[in-house]
Amino acid sequence: MAKSRSTPIHLIVMLLVTYFLCTVGKSNALACPLPPELATKLHVDQVAVDSASSDYGNIVHSKPAAVLYPSSIEDIQRLVRSSYNCPIPFGISVRGNGHSVNGQDMARDGVVVDMKSLRENKHGIKIRVYKNHLFADVGGEQLWIDVLHTTAAQGLSPVSWTDFLYLSVGGTLSNAGISGQTFLHGPQISNVYELDVITGNGELVTCSKRNNSDLFDSVLGGLGQFGIITRARIALRSAPAKVRWSRAFYSNFSDFIRDQERIARGGQRDVANYLEGSLVLDNGTPTEWITSFFPPALLPRIMSLVKKHGIIYCLELTKYYFVDDIESEIDQDLQQVFKDFAHVPGFIDAKFVSHQDFLTRVPNVENESLTHPWQNLFIPKSRISDFNLGVLREIVLKRNITTGPVLFYPLNRHKWDAKSSAVIPDEDIFYTTSFLHTSGIDNWQVYDDQNKAVVRFCEEAGIKIVKYLADYTTIEEWIKHFGSKWTTFRERKAQYDPKNILSPGQKIFNGI
Ligand code: FAD
Repeated sequence: MAKSRSTPIHLIVMLLVTYFLCTVGKSNALACPLPPELATKLHVDQVAVDSASSDYGNIVHSKPAAVLYPSSIEDIQRLVRSSYNCPIPFGISVRGNGHSVNGQDMARDGVVVDMKSLRENKHGIKIRVYKNHLFADVGGEQLWIDVLHTTAAQGLSPVSWTDFLYLSVGGTLSNAGISGQTFLHGPQISNVYELDVITGNGELVTCSKRNNSDLFDSVLGGLGQFGIITRARIALRSAPAKVRWSRAFYSNFSDFIRDQERIARGGQRDVANYLEGSLVLDNGTPTEWITSFFPPALLPRIMSLVKKHGIIYCLELTKYYFVDDIESEIDQDLQQVFKDFAHVPGFIDAKFVSHQDFLTRVPNVENESLTHPWQNLFIPKSRISDFNLGVLREIVLKRNITTGPVLFYPLNRHKWDAKSSAVIPDEDIFYTTSFLHTSGIDNWQVYDDQNKAVVRFCEEAGIKIVKYLADYTTIEEWIKHFGSKWTTFRERKAQYDPKNILSPGQKIFNGI
């Protein structure tokens, strides 16, 4: 009875939505019939469209025809099926938290699924911790900051993190998810047991290393090309009580990387749970990154060290410790490590902080008047000295424009699953570097130009860098990026998203 009464209303709503959409533009999304259940959840107004036309980078702007605010996984399935069944399918991108920097989360003339509405929906998957099994089931829309808080309440923690936690689980698992724990535990994609995924035909599939393993491997690091992650089963460990957090400066690049690698290769594994590094460049005032860590008395000395050398290098490590550990013993261990290291004497400091304070060290700051022309690279270890001379000293130091942190630390290839879609250099040890520039709306090109100069230099010098969070726009560039993985990547696309619906903002298959 209820059903027959509601049918005419549904029909009218459907016609209205279709009519409304058809009148707004000429894109494929607007021409396809859409199910009535989505009528109130699909928005075509200016505010909605604008919100999905920009991202953290604030450089690429691309308007979708509509934005879906789902209140359930079924809503997303309905949308994907609509596109799949449409004579001319439309593109669908998922906006995890919009922290891409090159429009990877956009869908020109298609539909952007804003996962925020699922996050805020009371009936969503949310975060369920299975203490006895040491894993958590987490909705793909959830932010890592919430995973931290929920797991910490049970004395547990994921093992592999990103530096910044206001990123969605689905978003980082579509890339890799790297930070200082990666050398030891691998990226976040190496620490997932199972996924629920909506593939390009709207089917919801559970996959793991045992079941549907090819889909599982495809989706991890898959740039959103093969499916929409709606649930991830994340590995957990006991959460440490506290963290001993140390930073030491080096004036010599070779010393810096030698000591980093001693830790990364495992010789110092028992003393470091986290390993990163960064550069401090001679371009004016010390950044908040330095001033907030080191005692004020050391700051003038650090700045004169930078003046003298142009670039100084900062090794950063932490040692976790648990309730039963004794602080002084942890300290002794660390002193022992640094005793053998070649940092500049006296240019070192350490502090105890809670595990949560450490993981939330990067604040959530958004400013729409800024742009972020970032570049993240993986560099093979065998060419790291050439990279130092040709890029860091000849380009970055000489141009002297770099703003924001420059990260620089080693990773172990064997901690990455070769079957995943992620691409990394073909060497046991490779470095990651991130130029995290912040600029105004009108001057980002100067940083973009430097980013391009870095890539050009590497190409000319034969340094086989791999872009992390790559921003390629042509199929030729993507084929080169994937290298030996390209054939598999393309075949997986044909299998799981045969109509090229998913994640058009990555600009991989759009032209095919
Ligand atoms: P979005 O930008 O919304 O989406 C990214 C891509 O993933 C898009 O193609 C999108 O369609 C797809 N996608 C999103 N959700 C899903 C889903 N559920 N299923 C399938 N596909 C999906 N990265 C690191 O590895 N380590 C870091 O420490 C780190 N720090 C960062 C700090 C800041 C301030 C910023 C802006 C970015 C940082 N990143 C880092 C990069 C970050 O991991 C990626 O930009 C990530 O894509 C952003 O997450 P998001 O949830 O906002 O995803």
